[in-house]
Amino acid sequence: MDGAPTAQHELAIVPEGMIADLLTRDAAFAAVEDVFAAMAAGKAQNFSVVREAMPTEDALYGFKGGVAPGVLGLKAGGYWPHNLDKRGLINHQSTVFLFEPETGRVKAMVGGNLLTALRTAAASSVSIKHLARPDAKVLGMIGAGHQATFQMRAALETHDFQKVIGWNLHPEMLPNLAKVADELDIPFDAVDLPGMVEADAIITITSSFAPTLLADHVSPGTHIACMGTDTIGKQEVEPAFLARSTVFCDEVAQSTTLGEAQHAVAAGLLGESDITQIGAVINGTHPGRTSTDEITLFDGTGVGLQDLAVASSIVDTAVANGTATMVKI
Ligand code: NAD
Repeated sequence: MDGAPTAQHELAIVPEGMIADLLTRDAAFAAVEDVFAAMAAGKAQNFSVVREAMPTEDALYGFKGGVAPGVLGLKAGGYWPHNLDKRGLINHQSTVFLFEPETGRVKAMVGGNLLTALRTAAASSVSIKHLARPDAKVLGMIGAGHQATFQMRAALETHDFQKVIGWNLHPEMLPNLAKVADELDIPFDAVDLPGMVEADAIITITSSFAPTLLADHVSPGTHIACMGTDTIGKQEVEPAFLARSTVFCDEVAQSTTLGEAQHAVAAGLLGESDITQIGAVINGTHPGRTSTDEITLFDGTGVGLQDLAVASSIVDTAVANGTATMVKI
């Protein structure tokens, strides 16, 4: 107690079920693009990630937090592998908490599950906008799980691709991609990995722990967004391939430790100084792609500020249109 008055204020609650109606793909894209730019300009900072194994349910739980102009908060959540089987709930569960940067008072509580998929898809789309060749026609998808459909939709809405090709370790999941292609009225072909040479931009979004995409599977001039590797040990791409690409990322510290670049860095094939934050390209302090033959690679590890920026945009919309539940506290 410091004797100061404890004035009441309002907490905005935006539950999971409302996110789909409140967050457009465009708003997610703009929030993520802006926060990547702020990070590269030194105006926004992600805090160290906490991720712990829980004593029950084989669960993993953690926090990703950060601060940016007008935004302070954290996403708390993780993975409960038995949720679906035991309780009919989805296994990934998360919630975003926002605080007033000026006072530290809690400001909002926002469902974080759909938000995570949309902000992750926005990150690869931002990389496609800034790094893919303007004449890129064929989108390659590696992965066909939950995130893959969001990734594919966002990419097709960002760039005028004319065809999608897809590969997945478990081919029975490929209809997930074909369904999105059908909805968006774009041709889709299943291919083998060498068939990826046809792609002008590739998104990898698997939970693989060994490389599947090899250098021989990629043509000169391709842009690759590696989105699946967000943990120590995961891997989607041959490390030597990163050494031959121009490598960009959301945040260098995460890219080198838990992102796709972790393996090339550990093997001494790539150094921290070889990796550029994509925000530098957005801000115009790095030229990005400089030739049509260059292979660009975006290591999208997933930073807390993506969640906070998108959650903040959702809260602004929900408060403005009166759909947030406001609680006096
Ligand atoms: P999911 O379980 O729905 O799908 C997993 C995908 O990986 C499927 O396509 C499956 O066939 C494939 N797969 C599984 N084992 C494989 C292996 N050994 N080799 C190659 N492919 C394999 O998972 P999801 O929710 O779509 O998530 C996919 C990945 O994206 C996960 O690793 C997840 O942690 C990661 N992710 C990253 C971010 C980020 O910000 N970068 C955000 C969310 C999720």
